[in-house]
Amino acid sequence: MTLHLITPTIDSTALSREYGLDIHLKLENTQPCGSFKLRGIGHACQTLHRQGARRFLSSSGGNAGYAVAYAGRKLGLPVTVVVPETTSERAKTLIRSEDAEVIVHGATWQECNAHAQSLRDATTAFIHPFDDLLLWEGHASMIDELATQGPRPDVVVCSVGGGGLLAGVAQGLQRNGWQDVGILAVETAGAASLAAALKQGAPVALPAIGSIATSLGARQVCQRAFEVASGPTLRSHVLSDASAVDGCATLLQAHRLLTEPACGASIAALAEVRRYFPQARRAVAIVCGGVGITVEQMQQWQATLPR
Ligand SMILES: *Cc1c(COP(=O)(O)O)cnc(C)c1O
Repeated sequence: MTLHLITPTIDSTALSREYGLDIHLKLENTQPCGSFKLRGIGHACQTLHRQGARRFLSSSGGNAGYAVAYAGRKLGLPVTVVVPETTSERAKTLIRSEDAEVIVHGATWQECNAHAQSLRDATTAFIHPFDDLLLWEGHASMIDELATQGPRPDVVVCSVGGGGLLAGVAQGLQRNGWQDVGILAVETAGAASLAAALKQGAPVALPAIGSIATSLGARQVCQRAFEVASGPTLRSHVLSDASAVDGCATLLQAHRLLTEPACGASIAALAEVRRYFPQARRAVAIVCGGVGITVEQMQQWQATLPR
């Protein structure tokens, strides 16, 4: 039994018409915790539980911390999520609703994470939000499903934060014999840690994060994501926060699905698929989801973000 669900892949007539390409959407927003994170985190938690873990620890106030809280409750293990002071009340309430203990510590994620590390002990497993083999292996299951749900796509479009999703997508393509499928890796300008790594020739830390797409706000991508991105099939695309929110609005209008700008970025980037992959006919966008959004918030961003 896995903790995540098999998600639908839908044909998007609306987006296909809009972007002149056969577009399919892998609906990871329909996972119990609202994002793909449960695939990798569920797999990691189950595996570590079998190996003797008796408590889980996370330092994410976002979708990763929420997924760890859910996984812990399902497995009957206590969970502690250390979050920075910037974490919203909504996020803390969601994490607590899965019976996890929430500890608020530090002004930045770095301070918060340092405190989380100090709470580790022999039977406590720390669950990293993106840099872990077990996570990538779990995320790869979305491509296994895709391979049973339809023909081979020419391109997979996915968003990149710390690069766990990208590493999982690449692993999934590989293990399904789809290693030549193109990958369009999408970031917002204020959180473009993959684009920075590609430019520098190695993962580098951004001085700061300046994007509303907080789920993409890892200052540095993991080494594995950089390696994947250095391969011949990947193109990196960076767009504005306003475009990412437009992507959210497009998805809401076309399919009545509300997702974070971290996900809207991949929808907006569908407009660029043909530019990067001129031969592409069929694209799959990973609708990565995210619970850090309300309709009011989306409308406020639409009204206030610079264009
Ligand atoms: C975590 C997350 C991402 C980015 O995933 P990484 O593995 O950090 O690259 C994108 N979108 C959503 C909704 C997320 O929760």
